[in-house]
Amino acid sequence: MNAATGSGVIGVLDLQGGVQEHLDHLCRIGAAGRPVKRTADLEGLDGLIIPGGESTCLSRLLNIFGLRQDIEAHYRQGLKLWGTCAGAILLARENIGEAPFFGLIDIAVSRNAFGSQLDSFNGQAMVPMVASEAIPLTFIRAPKIVRTGPGVRVLLSMDDYVAAAEDDQILVTVFHPELTPSLAFHRYFARKCGLHLAGDDAMGLDPGWTPQSWVRFSHHI
Ligand code: GLN
Repeated sequence: MNAATGSGVIGVLDLQGGVQEHLDHLCRIGAAGRPVKRTADLEGLDGLIIPGGESTCLSRLLNIFGLRQDIEAHYRQGLKLWGTCAGAILLARENIGEAPFFGLIDIAVSRNAFGSQLDSFNGQAMVPMVASEAIPLTFIRAPKIVRTGPGVRVLLSMDDYVAAAEDDQILVTVFHPELTPSLAFHRYFARKCGLHLAGDDAMGLDPGWTPQSWVRFSHHI
């Protein structure tokens, strides 16, 4: 656990976007999750997930609710962060053609780089640092990570972009593990936060998970 906190609790920013899906996956891996709506909710967290959604909307709500500075302050005290999709856009140091928001991880992202919402797709890939079997991937109007800085480790590289990367304190994925049956990335982030989970197997597919009607793992990248 984080020396600064050590509570074993992972927060999910609860302003807009895919909040409940992340909380459900945290529950499935046996980690304590907490929705974060206001400053007080950040107290004692070991990690915070900034979910997918719409990054402009999220950035405005973060400013309106005054959470931006508070998240930055907790980050400086050791809080681990994971941004999925819109969350990754908010954490990136460079957002091509737009101003960065948090700017905390040395990556450049290109928003909506695959096209419109209709160009969303599913695939699968090996991510050796995270799991020993292929992981299902769901991309929803995703950004591409088009540059990674020297302190950033690439976890998943695709044709002309990076899909998952991390530095010592931040994980970013342009896809949505919380919308698939795979628990591997949630386990990976929990370990990054210093949590020790029971039954910490490599792949962690949840047998009880049922896909949403629109989710099909038939397309390959
Ligand atoms: N297209 C959204 C944005 O630019 C991100 C989509 C997502 O989080 N699934 O903010």
